[in-house]
Amino acid sequence: MPLWQMLALAIMAAIEILNFDLLRPMLDLASPFLYTLFALNYLAAVLVGIDYLVLLLGDPSDPRLADPSYQENNQILVNCHQCCALVSQKSYHCNTCKRCVDEFDHHCVFLNNCIGKRNYSTFFRLLLTMLAHTTLNIAIGLSMCLSLDDSYKWVALTYALLSFVVFLEIAVLAIFHCYLSFVVYKSTLEVLRGDTKKPPRN
Ligand SMILES: [Zn+2]
Ligand SMILES: [Zn+2]
Repeated sequence: MPLWQMLALAIMAAIEILNFDLLRPMLDLASPFLYTLFALNYLAAVLVGIDYLVLLLGDPSDPRLADPSYQENNQILVNCHQCCALVSQKSYHCNTCKRCVDEFDHHCVFLNNCIGKRNYSTFFRLLLTMLAHTTLNIAIGLSMCLSLDDSYKWVALTYALLSFVVFLEIAVLAIFHCYLSFVVYKSTLEVLRGDTKKPPRN
């Protein structure tokens, strides 16, 4: 497993363990507000987990790699310079995954998988659910920090701080992908290559 993916999983695991550690004092506080935040947070955590697994296990390859007869309207086909496969002109060969990816956006080091046409919407949704999850974590951590006066105060504060670090990273990524999708209509690859403007994603 690559280093960045291990780091991301370790931080998320630490946050979830701290969350579990906060369950007992949360029950003692008997606060309907905190109960609601916890319930919403578990829902967000499940959504994050599902999208993470879908992205981890999904295959964003050009569909022609599995089925050479695959056709899509008006697509120009070319041979990849690296693997020689006949793929869409919009495909790009990922040197990490060593395969052609349909409408390649970027290779995500935290997922160790490519993001392209077939999984971009799931990736975008993952950013939004992670923003919701980390925002709720921060709200829970700070609320409990103000309500508790024993050693759990530090658990709550660490939980909120760790979540804030993840929130900042995800917020930067989400803003960048909103800019790509709704302002310039380009992929990350096209921005890095300085390509000219293209029509919106469909
Ligand atoms: Zn290729
Ligand atoms: Zn890749």
